[in-house]
Amino acid sequence: MNNKKLIDNLRNVPDFPIKGIQFKDVSTLYKDAECLQIMVDELYDIYRDKGITKVVGIESRGFVVGAALAVKLGAGFVMCRKPGKLPWQTKRATYMKEYGEDSIEISTDAIDPTDRVLIHDDLLATGGSMQAAIQLVRQFHPQQVYAGFIIELLIEGLHGRDLLDKDVPVDTLLQIR
Ligand code: AMP
Repeated sequence: MNNKKLIDNLRNVPDFPIKGIQFKDVSTLYKDAECLQIMVDELYDIYRDKGITKVVGIESRGFVVGAALAVKLGAGFVMCRKPGKLPWQTKRATYMKEYGEDSIEISTDAIDPTDRVLIHDDLLATGGSMQAAIQLVRQFHPQQVYAGFIIELLIEGLHGRDLLDKDVPVDTLLQIR
């Protein structure tokens, strides 16, 4: 993968949101029609034959390509959100972040045991958010869980995929070193 058009259009913002972080700003990929199409098409090629029935997007940057991909796959789309945002009863997973705890939620009726679920987020860094989403989705006992990202950060010893459950296939379009 590592499509040149995507690499050339991805904006890097140094020291955001705190000093030392190189923030990969996917909004420059989302706003460009050709980049948006490339991302959806490349992910579609990976998952087209996997029988995906639900795409779960992680709030909020995971909603954009996640929803477009769901349409192309003929799957439903599920929002994985911060606590208090979903109006229905929810299942929740809590995980450790650098400073304290965080939680994510999915509506209790969003996923069925017959589903094959692709969880999508824009970027894999430490893997903490995706692993929490995997644990949350597993509470619904789906047939299979996949994890798909646009960007995988492999800088400064980061290897987020090592944190993810080994039976979850992981795919990324851009690997940034
Ligand atoms: P992590 O849980 O450490 O894998 O972090 C992944 C989540 O945090 C994703 O939802 C990203 O949007 C965001 N994130 C973490 N690090 C960065 C970064 N350097 N640039 C852009 N987004 C990031």
